[in-house]
Amino acid sequence: MLFAAWFGFKNIKREVDLAQTKSDFVSNVSHELRTPLALISMFTETLAMGRVKSEEKRDEYYEIIQHEIDRLSRIVNKILSFSKIEAGKWKYNFALTQINSLINKIFDTYKFHLQNKGFDFAIEDCSERITAYIDPEAVSEAVINLIDNAVKYSEENKKVIVRYGIESGRVFIEVEDFGIGISSADQKKIFEKFFRVTSGNVHERKGTGLGLTLVNHIIEAHHGEIKLTSDLGKGSKFKLLFPRI
Ligand code: ADP
Repeated sequence: MLFAAWFGFKNIKREVDLAQTKSDFVSNVSHELRTPLALISMFTETLAMGRVKSEEKRDEYYEIIQHEIDRLSRIVNKILSFSKIEAGKWKYNFALTQINSLINKIFDTYKFHLQNKGFDFAIEDCSERITAYIDPEAVSEAVINLIDNAVKYSEENKKVIVRYGIESGRVFIEVEDFGIGISSADQKKIFEKFFRVTSGNVHERKGTGLGLTLVNHIIEAHHGEIKLTSDLGKGSKFKLLFPRI
């Protein structure tokens, strides 16, 4: 009897937790979408009214609008990728890929964005040419998600380092930040879908709780592994490892 009651309670608790997570997710996503929409609406309105006289200011406003549109697309793409994964419809396209140029491409794309945000963004270049049989789009998406998080969860010490190379016969790509860090209890949960750390001031940062779920899925599809080292208040290191072939 006691066991049945305990079992029933566990089931109900799981349902309640899931309902709470779902409602948190909806509110997080709405929050994420609201800010860029509000900015786009404000700046287009100002431009449409012809109130902005200087060419320089107009260019600056167009740039903000473009930046916010990119942000919206990223959020929507993340949700679409997640729902494809959930439905088992995500298709991987594996190909022999140069890791050096893949990382350099990501660095070139994100360098200005990060520097604009006051970050010291560096790659520790690898002298060896590394090729691996991976899905380049998917692995790039995983690394970009890690860089996004490194930026989002940093405070005063704005520094992000990307390293890559070979470790015990496997390819590794690592993203390190010196931000808020993750407690060991939370380290076990952050790869679960919708999960977000709620203690401290983390909830002030926007997010869907899907980024690391995507990273995890991508690495599993590559028969790889994610190693996380993190200290609260000091920073985090996410290392992706996968076989070369
Ligand atoms: P999101 O960032 O959209 O909330 P993620 O799945 O990418 O979702 O991450 C889940 C949670 O893990 C985050 O809400 C955050 O609490 C924690 N987290 C992820 N990356 C980092 C990081 N680099 N430093 C500190 N906390 C992190």
